[in-house]
Amino acid sequence: MNNPLQKGNKLYSILYWKCPNCQEGDLFIQKSPYVFLKSLDMPKECPNCKQDYEIEPGFYLGSLWTSYPIVAVLVIAITAYFYLYMELGLLPFFILLSTVMFILQPLIMRFGRSMWINIFVKYNSKK
Ligand SMILES: [Zn+2]
Repeated sequence: MNNPLQKGNKLYSILYWKCPNCQEGDLFIQKSPYVFLKSLDMPKECPNCKQDYEIEPGFYLGSLWTSYPIVAVLVIAITAYFYLYMELGLLPFFILLSTVMFILQPLIMRFGRSMWINIFVKYNSKK
């Protein structure tokens, strides 16, 4: 069975934020997602294979559909553990949840965009 973290697999492109077409070029200009106001800056096209990253105007508005399930899973997991299992009070739990989600927001948005473009662009090993 193929290793899911090998080139040629969608998971590789999603997790490493690589171009879905060639899986060589970076999806984001900044390596770190924690660069203030520049976290979501993307080149217009892949520096390696010239795959268009902005497929149509407002393309990444659709990434709400892919980042929403990530948020839902995280909120359910954090709620299950800290509020229901650890029985943290409502206010400390809410502060903890807000802080964790605030810190993870740039990562969630990047993975959302990465998943979104991978839905529409297929891997092509020849480029
Ligand atoms: Zn590429």
